[in-house]
Amino acid sequence: MTTRIDGKAFAAQVRERVAAEVAVLKERHGITPGLAVVIAGEDPASKIYVRNKIKQTMETGMRSIEHKLSIDTSQRDLLALIDELNADAAVNGILVQLPLPEQIDGEAVINALDRHKDVDGFHVANVGRLWTGSEGMVPCTPLGCLMLLQDQLGDLTGKRALVLGRSNIVGKPMAALLLAQHCTVTIAHSRTADLAQRCSEADILIAAVGRPRMVKGDWIKPGATVIDVGINRIETDEGKMRLVGDVDFDAAQGVAGAITPVPGGVGPMTIACLLHNTVTAACRQNGVDRESLS
Ligand code: NDP
Repeated sequence: MTTRIDGKAFAAQVRERVAAEVAVLKERHGITPGLAVVIAGEDPASKIYVRNKIKQTMETGMRSIEHKLSIDTSQRDLLALIDELNADAAVNGILVQLPLPEQIDGEAVINALDRHKDVDGFHVANVGRLWTGSEGMVPCTPLGCLMLLQDQLGDLTGKRALVLGRSNIVGKPMAALLLAQHCTVTIAHSRTADLAQRCSEADILIAAVGRPRMVKGDWIKPGATVIDVGINRIETDEGKMRLVGDVDFDAAQGVAGAITPVPGGVGPMTIACLLHNTVTAACRQNGVDRESLS
């Protein structure tokens, strides 16, 4: 029997907890956490994503601040806006929606953020802090995956984990988080030899490749926990578009111990963790012990 990990329901619980914490922050400390979202250009997927972020931010009682910039915004103007947001005490978290227009150096923009407000955890100082085990901001998607894994498995100590994909936003931070939880971690990528064999040795398999249904049933160790980060849009035989993950979900049934579906698995956790990180940032910036809020 394979358990279907319900990321949608778990994300709703995370948002409820965030909303409860925000209520206490307001009532007891007079703080309303603020999340600024900066979007440049008209990328349709980014616009939908940003709309969802803003809606969910407001539903938890936080303040949402949106900055929509045109596609021909200059690097200088964007950096000036970042400076303003860094200095604004009402803004606790800043999210710069990627991808940015081609004339903008995305890395320079991310590294211009005040690292304490970098709720995406992409600033190089936060990356370093994650790998060295210091307190910082943790990227939302890997954080969401870790929450689902811990809910499913409890203590992860000693588990063999394989992270398929080595991007800066998913694969690498995921590996760092699992290492911090005392897993034995393998990072696989497009040049990995014997990929299927490597995957089949893992108690925990995280797929973050962006290739529809690449991970086959016989790549999965019987009983393993599989977290499918991939979001791939494919055309069905009936000519309709649908979303599938990086794992062949049907083939994984009966082999994996537990698996996240796509959609409804990791996806909803990403925004929930963004809200979670914004409360983390607001607490740290105001010297509030988060534990005291619950
Ligand atoms: P990237 O394209 O940045 O990275 C993909 C990784 O997969 C690379 O490390 C690449 O290896 C590896 N890879 C590609 N093809 C193969 C292959 N045939 N065999 C083995 N490894 C391979 O993607 P992201 O990390 O940004 O995203 C991965 C997936 O997760 C995408 O589907 C994306 O849409 C989804 N995603 C979902 C989120 C969510 O909220 N659920 C959030 C972010 C991403 P190499 O480095 O060697 O090129």
